[in-house]
Amino acid sequence: MARAPFTLDDLPARLRALVQLCPAKGCWLWIGSTSGTGRGGGYGRVKWQGVTQAAHKVVWLVSGGRLLRAGEQLDHTCTVRRCCNPAHLSPLFQKRNMKLAYSRRRAAFTAEAAE
Ligand SMILES: [Zn+2]
Repeated sequence: MARAPFTLDDLPARLRALVQLCPAKGCWLWIGSTSGTGRGGGYGRVKWQGVTQAAHKVVWLVSGGRLLRAGEQLDHTCTVRRCCNPAHLSPLFQKRNMKLAYSRRRAAFTAEAAE
């Protein structure tokens, strides 16, 4: 039997209070603190089990996502950094993730230039 999909309301209350559903894309937007606006910024941060860490990673693990291997990161398939929806996250090796981010940026830039 398939496991019921993990929903927002399955989140522990402390995390649930910091996540807001974006109905347009189904993103779970993190409304708690973030890593700021600099390089590598814009990701949700939360103190969980005594360690301050990436909010989307915490949600991923809490929702039953598998442990990440060394060098793996969670890619946001929706490209929304603050999103924590486990259905929008997929583990990826860092190199591949950077390549993807680059091609997405490039695509966005090309689209802008064409306007
Ligand atoms: Zn999303």
